[in-house]
Amino acid sequence: MNGNAPSLLVFSDLDGSLLDHHSYSFAPALPLVKTLAERGIPLILASSKTRAEMLELRLALGNTQPFIVENGAAVFIPRHTFPAPPVGTRELGDYWVYEMAPARSKWLALLADLSAEFPGEFDSFHSAGVAGIVEMTGLSMTQAQAANDRFYSEPVRWLGSKARETLFTRRLRDAGATVLKGGRFLSVSGNCDKGQALRWLRARYQQQAGGTALKDLAIGDSENDCSMLEAAHTALLIRSPVHDFPALGKVDGVLRSSACGPAGWAQGVSQWLQSNGIST
Ligand SMILES: [Mg+2]
Repeated sequence: MNGNAPSLLVFSDLDGSLLDHHSYSFAPALPLVKTLAERGIPLILASSKTRAEMLELRLALGNTQPFIVENGAAVFIPRHTFPAPPVGTRELGDYWVYEMAPARSKWLALLADLSAEFPGEFDSFHSAGVAGIVEMTGLSMTQAQAANDRFYSEPVRWLGSKARETLFTRRLRDAGATVLKGGRFLSVSGNCDKGQALRWLRARYQQQAGGTALKDLAIGDSENDCSMLEAAHTALLIRSPVHDFPALGKVDGVLRSSACGPAGWAQGVSQWLQSNGIST
């Protein structure tokens, strides 16, 4: 095996997990983020966020690891990660990119078609524009621009009734879209999810590690994290101030935080590191 290959991996959702649901702060998790970096354990951010948003956050966190954008649509791998570009990736600046979804324009056309059947019942980032995104999310203008700088998916805010939402979701799915429910938005995209992205990237690390068995931890708070939580050896469910834990199929290897957001993140990561013989 490669002596520098990591044997532990952490995949983490952002909103409501590493970032506080209300304030977007990661401060309570920062000591554990630093511990992971010191121990050479990759912290791979996996979010519904865009590349532009995630680059900003990685910078703030001092994170230089691969990251998964737009709910698993693509994996961005800094060139220093592996000795050679993984099969199926394309080069984009300092990254190798592995794409698992069609372009955003496909979903914008579908939503435009559905606006006749569901008039005034939904809003999306594209239709709301940057000012509308500021209003929906509380992000700054610059942050809203980064949120709208997307390539594979469209966040939709449902405004109508629960029953109509079910019908709307069915229409989208019938037309070939994958619809994932996040903390605030429905994400409309291709057949991709964080779990498939985790599996693909873990296999690349596994190749690098040779015969050494890898162990991974996936961290999330919402339904759109479930595929990733199911795929990982250990799942850490982060308590949310606004909704219940999502339902998981698996029972073993599941941790649940008692604190919400980044404080719960720190608790759970600490517990997982300790269970792997690493003191925090
Ligand atoms: Mg979340």
